[in-house]
Amino acid sequence: MQATIYKSTGSWYTVKTATGEFFQARMKGIFKKNEDITSTNPVAVGDLVEIEPEDGEPGNAMITKIENRSNYIVRASPHGKNKKHIVAANLDQAVLICTLKEPRTSTGFIDRFLVTAAAYHIPVILIFNKKDIYKDKEMEKYEEIYDVYTDIGYQVMLISAKEQDGIDEVKAVLKDKTTLISGHSGVGKSSLINDLMPGLTIRTTAVSGWSGKGLHTTTSAEMYDLPDGGRLIDTPGVREFGIVDIEKTELSHYFLEMRPYLSECQFNNCLHINEPSCAVKAAVEAGEIDVERYVSYATILETIEEKEY
Ligand code: GDP
Ligand code: ZN
Repeated sequence: MQATIYKSTGSWYTVKTATGEFFQARMKGIFKKNEDITSTNPVAVGDLVEIEPEDGEPGNAMITKIENRSNYIVRASPHGKNKKHIVAANLDQAVLICTLKEPRTSTGFIDRFLVTAAAYHIPVILIFNKKDIYKDKEMEKYEEIYDVYTDIGYQVMLISAKEQDGIDEVKAVLKDKTTLISGHSGVGKSSLINDLMPGLTIRTTAVSGWSGKGLHTTTSAEMYDLPDGGRLIDTPGVREFGIVDIEKTELSHYFLEMRPYLSECQFNNCLHINEPSCAVKAAVEAGEIDVERYVSYATILETIEEKEY
């Protein structure tokens, strides 16, 4: 029967069947990987699998097949340079929780997240939290960010998890979708998850709450069913997703607002830095592409190693 991976702990996976039954499942032997990527984990949260309940062991099952993924997101594996760890699969969208104060999420960090998500074809919603403590300065910054990113096509929201302000709007965005939720530590991810799923209060405050940083040992993703339909994938401990698969010449494709200009550069392998007749640079100078976004582009470009062949 078909089931979805909700959690992975070592070689055991918590899976849920279409009828709502949970099993603890293991992989059956070694079977062919269905993706042409070298990952350190064969199955990830969100994967759709085929399981066979085990005779005489109620609640246990074997995973016999992994269905093809519609998409997935990876991070660099700690076990080796070019290896990747699949964080989650089959996502409809990702939410990045950001804050402009206590702590401040840098636009550089936001842009790296957006690039990674774009590379894996995952739409992103930016949610700015802690609205209740924003003063004029932060509100101005928010308006600026709102304009830049909504122009590109991203949805941007302002909420207060503490005051439950904007939570209904968040619920509407998450309804019936599978959403990866991410953000720097301290931005209020646990608080928002609590607002969305009050039943999980114990887990979030006790494990990943502000007073319990040291207790926060889980690094694998976990999926939760939302009360109004849809699922949330939390990725505790994952600070950043890797820009591991991206080549220098590809990067501008993942700055979505650069796409319309790319075919107009004189060189088709233009990196949009020093090349003559670069349509991207011209668009930045004309104010059609935000300067800070261009700076992010150049900064990320520098961090990409040329692949050795
Ligand atoms: P996480 O590390 O992202 O899971 O963040 P937490 O949910 O643990 O929150 C970190 C801190 O920010 C805690 O002290 C929360 O009480 C506080 N916090 C969370 N949301 C808000 C908010 O909307 N406004 C304010 N002022 N504080 C918040
Ligand atoms: Zn160019």
